[in-house]
Amino acid sequence: MWLCRSGLIKMKFIFITLFPEFIADACNFSIIKRGREAGLFTVQSINPRDFTTDNHRTVDDTPCGGGAGMVLKVEPFFAALAAARALAPDALVVALTPAGEVLGQPRVEQLAHAQQDIIFLCGHYEGFDQRILDQADLKISIGDYVLTGGEMPALVMLDTLIRFIPGVLGKSESAMEESFSNNLLEYPQYTRPIEYQGKTVPDILLSGDHAKIKQWRLKEAIRTTYLLRPDLLAKANLSKGEGKLFLEVVAETKDKTNE
Ligand code: SAM
Repeated sequence: MWLCRSGLIKMKFIFITLFPEFIADACNFSIIKRGREAGLFTVQSINPRDFTTDNHRTVDDTPCGGGAGMVLKVEPFFAALAAARALAPDALVVALTPAGEVLGQPRVEQLAHAQQDIIFLCGHYEGFDQRILDQADLKISIGDYVLTGGEMPALVMLDTLIRFIPGVLGKSESAMEESFSNNLLEYPQYTRPIEYQGKTVPDILLSGDHAKIKQWRLKEAIRTTYLLRPDLLAKANLSKGEGKLFLEVVAETKDKTNE
């Protein structure tokens, strides 16, 4: 899926931001840096301030109708968006806003598999003039709280998306076996030492019996989800076998609370 005649399809991520250094710095660490340097995707910023024509390079103004704060102006953002679209004509334009769809793994996977370039519109101050928001194909929030700017939410999206690009993570299956795949949280993970301050790794993980380990992990994923995020479990498409494990978990939890 990720191969084309000229090699790997390279997803372009273009940030329209008043703080390009923020994006450059954040993309200069760990997996994002490695993926970028390996040429698996590209990250670029366009600053609306560069498209202003006044001496003060003004990008915001007071709200029409009065009120607190400053609103991001249409002209520099439209010009920045036009420049971004010239670089990535088929890109999806995503505005980061608390009023957007709350980002979840199904949307991440849908966007990752679409392999479409993405232009992120990052807001600041009181937010965007509505006419800028109206340019977006998709409005995304990263949760029901308010941040000072759209850079971190856009970086959150970038981070979750690039994990699906083959070669970005060590093993291509890593992104598929984590929390939220099939609406289950991940099972508990352990590494050496086997015993630390009297706390030990479950015996089954040391048994070498891969079938049993797989079954244990599935049951513990169901248990973790049941205890911490029952709302997810309600959406999970459990097979007959998984349903049986779920019933065992429920019974074991009841027994524990009755102890
Ligand atoms: N006045 C806006 C409101 O009440 O919805 C909040 C503006 S916020 C201070 C400035 C910018 O941060 C927004 O334009 C948006 O780009 C970004 N932002 C803040 N919280 C966000 C969230 N939860 N998800 C996505 N973007 C957010």
